[in-house]
Formats: sequence, C-alpha cells, structure tokens
Amino acid sequence: MEYKSTIGLEIHVELKTKSKMFCSCKNDPDEKRANYNICPICTAQPGTLPAINKEAVRKTIKTGLALNCNIPEISKFDRKNYFYPDLPKGYQISQYDKPFCKQGFLEINNKKVRITRVHLEEDTGRLVHEKASSLVDFNRAGIPLMEMVTEPDLTTAKEARKFAEELKLILKYLGVSDADMEKAQLRVEVNISLSKDKKMGTKVEIKNLNSFKAVEQAIDYEIERQAEVLDKGKKVVQETRGWNEKKGITISQREKEEAHDYRYFPEPDLPTLHLDKKFIQDIQAEIPELPGAKRIRLAYEYNLDEKTIEIFTSNKDLGEYFEKVMSELSNWLKQADYQKLVKLAVNYITTDFWSLFGKASITELESRITPENFAELITLIYKGEISSKIAKQVLKEMFETKADPSHIIEEKDLTQLTDAGEIEDIIKEVISKNPKAVEDYRKGKQNALQFLAGQVMAATRGRAKPETLQHLLKKELGSL
Ligand SMILES: [Zn+2]
Repeated sequence: MEYKSTIGLEIHVELKTKSKMFCSCKNDPDEKRANYNICPICTAQPGTLPAINKEAVRKTIKTGLALNCNIPEISKFDRKNYFYPDLPKGYQISQYDKPFCKQGFLEINNKKVRITRVHLEEDTGRLVHEKASSLVDFNRAGIPLMEMVTEPDLTTAKEARKFAEELKLILKYLGVSDADMEKAQLRVEVNISLSKDKKMGTKVEIKNLNSFKAVEQAIDYEIERQAEVLDKGKKVVQETRGWNEKKGITISQREKEEAHDYRYFPEPDLPTLHLDKKFIQDIQAEIPELPGAKRIRLAYEYNLDEKTIEIFTSNKDLGEYFEKVMSELSNWLKQADYQKLVKLAVNYITTDFWSLFGKASITELESRITPENFAELITLIYKGEISSKIAKQVLKEMFETKADPSHIIEEKDLTQLTDAGEIEDIIKEVISKNPKAVEDYRKGKQNALQFLAGQVMAATRGRAKPETLQHLLKKELGSL
C-alpha cells in the first residue's frame, strides 16, 4: 500500500558567541577540561541572576531574517521545567509563546518549506558515562542554543537532507554558527508520519541524528517501518525514537511529552524584550549575499554550469577567490574571449588550486598565490605562452615560493617551445635512439607513437605544445 509521508524538522544550533547565554563564561565548544568554563550562574547556584547575551539575540534575529521570518516587536523568555542530571537548574530557559522569529520559509528545489519559528534557549550540560558511573560536565550548560522548527512540508528523506544541508550553508554564510554536526553544533530531529488520505497520521520523533547521511537513512527506515505497521492494520505509537547508526535502525526511547508536561511559565528573572525597528534594520543590513542569490548571480554573471556553481557556493572562500581572479582578468584582457577565460579559471581553480587546500587554509593559500598572480598565470595559458602541463608546475612553484608566474617561467626557462626547428631536432634525436619503437609504429602499433611522443615531451621538459609535437612527429616518421 502506498502512503504519503509528512516530515517536519526541529533543528538545534549552537551559536558562535564569545560568552554563554546568561553569564560571562567563555563559550568554547573545544574546551577539553571538564567543568572549566562554569560559574555560579550557569551551574544554577541559589541567588544568582541571568543576564541576556545581546549578541546571541542578534544572531538569532539575523537567522530569522535570512529565513524570511517576521520579527515580532515583543519577545520573552520562559522556563521549560523538566529534570535531568545535565540540567542544573531543573528547568531550561527557553521561549514558548513569544519567540524572536515567526513564520518564515526556506526555498529548496523550487519549493517553499515553511518555518514555524526560530527561538533562543540555553544548552544543557553533557553526561559522560564511564564504566559503573556517570560524570557531568557543565562546560556546555548555558551555551546559546537556537532552535528552529519547520512546518511538515517535507515529503522525502532526500528533501529533508537537502533542507538541513542548505540551512547549514546559510548559517555559515551568516557567521552565526560553525554548525559542525560532528561536534553537535547542529542537531537535527525529525518528525514523521504516514497516511493514506489528507488526515495526518501519528507522529513519531527521531533523535540523535548527527550527520546528514543519518537524517536521510533514518527517515527512509522509518517510512518503511511505519508502512509495515499500518499494512498489518496496527496503529503507529506516538513516541520518540533514537537512531542506531551501526544497525541502521530506529529504536523506541520514550513516549512523547506534550507541551503541558513542561509547565512552561514566563521567566521571572528576565525582562520582556521590546525590539525597536532600528535594532532590526541594523541586523538586516549585516546580512551578506546568501547561497540562493549567489547561485543565480554566478549563473548570470559567468554562465557557469550547475556543478561549478555548487562548488563555488558550498565552498564560499573558493567562490570568492574565483571572483577576485575574474575581476583581475577582466581588467587585463579587455579584448579577450570572456567565456574562454572563465573556463580556464574555473578549470585551474577547481582542480589544481583546490587540491592545495589540504596543505593550507584559504587565507594562507591566498597569501601565497594572490588572485593577481593567479590571473597572470591564466593570462599566460590563454595567450599560449605556456602549456597546461607547465602551468601545473608553475602553480606548484607559486605555492612554494610565493613568486609571480612570469618570474618563475623566466627563471626556469619554461616558455612554450614555438620554434618548429627546435622541436624537429629533438624528434630526430628521439627517433634515432629508439629504433624498436619506430619499427613497432610502422607495424601499426599506436602505443609506440604515444611512447615516442612522451619521449619527445620529456626531452623538451614539457615545453612543447602537444598538438604541434604530434603533428611534427607523424610528419617525421612518415618521411623516414
Ligand atoms: Zn557561567
């Protein structure tokens, strides 16, 4: 039986701020010393008072604006009451009925996925289980945590994954979070139900999804599991399930709580916030070009194909480097075939240049190979002054010595051999040294020709133009 699946997401994001949400402790997700960044406030000692981190509020609103949300004038914090050993207060400061951002959307694959809300809360501590005991580390307690909830507009595992990936990209563009899933800075929970008609089925929540792959696999598994339950005429239980990565299955954890189980009430220690227009406008002005707009512009401005656009959008720094190179090139080569320049620049940036990333950060890379020098290299290739093989060598040299390409080419005598006479002399020498290969060639062995061409290329130290070399070599062999 075919069922329609309805999927909604709840995504938690640790914000990148200097200090925690309600105290001045350092927000350092990489701190290895347990209980190092803690104070009486984030460990909930009696008599302490929280103070709101303005930067966390700004970053939440920035995210909301980027996701096309409304920002209500009035917001407030509430207490969400529950007990767990990693929650020192016995409640979490969160937002209930007056979140910072409401009713937005994010477009993926030309489909608007509605965003119900984006709110701000504090993260909990972390439990470390060791043999017979459990230890608690409060370094994470009180770190600003942003939660966003979507409407159930997603219908497939692939779509949900795409949504989460696009959201991560936006968060990185905005600089509000590093959104590293392995470090649990971005945590995805899935709500999923199956039904045959318009009436929604029973909702199951899946937690512990710490990679995009897990999001996709868990949804696919759950669709199949719920369909089997329904096919047998049974009812799906409303519950929270965890994802077991190793076994590739979801496992029942507990029955789902309702909002009233948390006894939400307004946080009495924090004021209601009135956000004036100027405050929001200032945040709006800081929002950079976002991935969606960038894709459209890259297609329009450079006529790039979809795959390249994706590379330059998901690797923001690489895309920016490409644009700097293009800007240098268009200054220099006003009369050039623009599309050919784009193609050359894309080709070298997405292959040889990109492969250097393993060796250095983009800042380091850019200081070694400046966009100006890179543009010069492209110019030399464009003008046919160096071969593509030499270009790779020069690029490597540029990375190592920081020198500009013409300097390297001159110093190492790498200019392309254009003198046919010089190449012919080398060909004659190679032919006389390799009588067996010549004979094989006469017998019709094509790889003998490739062998000879390789020998000639090596003798020119890669400086011959491959087409010229082939042409001259065949001519020489033919006349023997
Ligand atoms: Zn603290």
